[in-house]
Amino acid sequence: MTYAARVTRARSRMEELDVDLLLLSVGADLPYLTGYEAMPLERLTMLVLPRAGDAQLVVPRLEAPRVETQPDVFEIVPWGETDDPVALVARLAGRPAVVAIGDRTWARFVLDLQQAMTSSAFVRASSVLAPLRVVKDAAEIDALRRAAEAVDAIAVEMRSRPFAGRTELDVHRELVERMLAAGHERSNFAIVAAGEHAASPHHEPSADRVIGEHEIVLCDFGGTMRGYCSDITRMFHVGEPSTEVRDAYVVLAEAQETGVQAATVGTPCEAVDAAARSVIAAAGYGDYFVHRVGHGIGREAHEDPYLVAGNAEPIAVGHAFSVEPGIYLPGRFGVRLEDIVVATADGPVRLNNAPRDMAVVA
Ligand code: ZN
Ligand code: ZN
Ligand code: ZN
Repeated sequence: MTYAARVTRARSRMEELDVDLLLLSVGADLPYLTGYEAMPLERLTMLVLPRAGDAQLVVPRLEAPRVETQPDVFEIVPWGETDDPVALVARLAGRPAVVAIGDRTWARFVLDLQQAMTSSAFVRASSVLAPLRVVKDAAEIDALRRAAEAVDAIAVEMRSRPFAGRTELDVHRELVERMLAAGHERSNFAIVAAGEHAASPHHEPSADRVIGEHEIVLCDFGGTMRGYCSDITRMFHVGEPSTEVRDAYVVLAEAQETGVQAATVGTPCEAVDAAARSVIAAAGYGDYFVHRVGHGIGREAHEDPYLVAGNAEPIAVGHAFSVEPGIYLPGRFGVRLEDIVVATADGPVRLNNAPRDMAVVA
């Protein structure tokens, strides 16, 4: 879908919601509509998009050369070092009754804009854009697939790499380097958690923790490739795992498969969580699966739809999300298995296809 087509759809949402003006700064909404990503800096970048009429991209003059012009979407309004960009945005905005402002806009700009636009009510831009962004078009799914294939290849390569005797941080660095080498423009995270650390779902890799013999290692890594995110979790074990670890992993893998197969079009998001969770609970590990089963993925590593109890939103064609149950036994070990899945009319399709067994490594 072209940027212009997305803007047209955004405008009809604005119409529906009685939103007069859209203001977008840092975050994924702006590149979704324009292809341009604002630098997360103290200098304000902001798209000023009225429901009708021309849109303007207010951008620091020194960053203007980075903007790829989209004449059918916006015109560039550069501002100089001594200009007041908030006053500039307020002037271009006019007197809209309802402004939808990007959820991630820095508070300092939101507060200043509210002060400069006292007659406007401010709402979140996600009310306008989240329902559009949640349904991925063919090009977006292709980008997600390519990012997934890149991390799949890394997950496969890691199966023949040594782990014992290395620190978590050392393996973390290798994952980051491999993601960049595989075409990602950035790494978003690379969790490496050994032994009891794997029981902490978002463990920070340690420079001191050396991976030992007979230890489990959880690797959860992802980055951004051509604007779209990857995210995969695979388990490694130095030497053969114990019966206890093996048994927990069998349950986990069955829960993950059950979750993926449950993710059919029309199924409420929360039912996918429940499907995976019921397998884990039935095996007696219910108290040790401490997070939702998945999150949407796209330009952001975590975005709608969230597969969590309480979200009755039905899965639709084009939704892309992770299915990543885990079992975390505090002080001992943890296991997680994660694939990115796209909902299609023919059923759920995994974008990640690296082997899902626990890899026995040296
Ligand atoms: Zn996570
Ligand atoms: Zn994830
Ligand atoms: Zn992950």
